[in-house]
Amino acid sequence: MLRVLIAGIAQEISSFNPVATEYELFSIQRAEEVVEVNRGTSTAIAGAMEVFDSKIDVQFVTTVAAKAVSAGPMSAKCWSTLSTEFIDSLRPYVGEVDAIYLSLHGAMGGETELDPEGWVLEQTRALFGDDIPIIFSLDLHGILTAKMLRFGSGVTSYQTYPHVDLHDTGMRAASLLLKIVAGAKPVVARVRIPAIVRGDELKTDSGCFGDQIRKIKSLEAEGKILSGGFLIGNPFTDVPELCSQAFIVTDDNPSDAEQIALELTAAFWDNREKMQSNLIPLVESVGKASSMAGPIIFTDAADAPSSGSPGDSNSIIAELARTNYPHSVLAPVTDAPAVKKAVAAGVGGRFTATVGGALDPRFTPLEFDFEVKLISDGNYILESWGAPQFSGITAVVTSGVFTLVLTSLPVSLFDRSLFLGHGLDPEKFHSIVVKSPHCQPRFFDDWAEHNFNVDAPGSTSANLRSLGHTTCARPIFPLDEQVAFNPSAEIYENK
Ligand SMILES: [Zn+2]
Repeated sequence: MLRVLIAGIAQEISSFNPVATEYELFSIQRAEEVVEVNRGTSTAIAGAMEVFDSKIDVQFVTTVAAKAVSAGPMSAKCWSTLSTEFIDSLRPYVGEVDAIYLSLHGAMGGETELDPEGWVLEQTRALFGDDIPIIFSLDLHGILTAKMLRFGSGVTSYQTYPHVDLHDTGMRAASLLLKIVAGAKPVVARVRIPAIVRGDELKTDSGCFGDQIRKIKSLEAEGKILSGGFLIGNPFTDVPELCSQAFIVTDDNPSDAEQIALELTAAFWDNREKMQSNLIPLVESVGKASSMAGPIIFTDAADAPSSGSPGDSNSIIAELARTNYPHSVLAPVTDAPAVKKAVAAGVGGRFTATVGGALDPRFTPLEFDFEVKLISDGNYILESWGAPQFSGITAVVTSGVFTLVLTSLPVSLFDRSLFLGHGLDPEKFHSIVVKSPHCQPRFFDDWAEHNFNVDAPGSTSANLRSLGHTTCARPIFPLDEQVAFNPSAEIYENK
């Protein structure tokens, strides 16, 4: 009987979000809870469990699965508490298991630890020794580090953007693990590219990046490689090894692994200019939209909580107000102090408050006289896949042409549900601010006259040069002018 341990720890951060992630932001399942919460879902852990469940000679135990929504870097206290809990949960199983699967993200970061997942792999290896395989999986936006590769035995990563293959990634990780147990000798080659990228060309079914992914998938299907992936990193996670990179895992064949990874990265490098966002200046966006019939979408991905921003940007609202915009506007803003004032005024009441910049000093608070239309406890259901969402106490307020959804907490906007859940139909407005880079077309684009991908300031701006990276290795495209790519493969031959 093969005994496998399953655990997970995941978050994606923006180093440019000034609000630290605290321990309380993590939702943590322990022991059997990990199985109960994941079974039958689309997570990577669910995928791995399905593979192990299908084998009569495999049993697994689960220890801790911790996950937080995107936000700023973990505080020192958060990481200390979380990392201790994670590693302590593994200790009872030393000598009791034969293999380990870790479901990771790869874009975590903390004030005191810039490679949390590398730390997890190093510590796990130190506990369990060199004789058991440790397989891990990452998000396509993960930053695979030398430490992860040194202490892990093999890796799988998402092969879709937008991500729809979490479950499959877990299944591939479990299959890789079983192949190693059965005798395969994993050799990993990875090639790092000094480039960070963003934009529509990264969509794997329509963009040029899809070519690299399809090549990897076909090599996997043909059995020529054990596993492969292409990671574009998260451009907002400013850590030393931030880059784009390909990794190929073969069965004891370092030269094939190297050759394939080199070919993949050469093609990617050639397309680097294409893989940048096409942003429209804020003043131009608002100016053009004011004379359009609408509906108009202002995509403000620079303040997307799903990418790690606090959601408290008012920069588009400020420009609309400054130009006396003549149309109705719907916009979400994270602003707990303004929500408190709305609650004190009550539905139908009036109050004066500033909006925006409550968390990120990049934004100057802007004062409005508001009327309160609705107050909610912030619980609503995601229209995309039915998951419960929570925005904290939330107020719908109006002022002139503006209808603002003021939330106490940052909210990832995947679709229209924040609006629908608060009695607002976005199609009834001329202009809607959408703080997300990746809503499916059916939610907004399909009924809008135009979508302006606005070049607004923010901690997750696709205008990568605007962010102020200080930590990643330089030079790197597009932050620096003269960047050369001298491809070379690192080879990791592991346990
Ligand atoms: Zn991702």
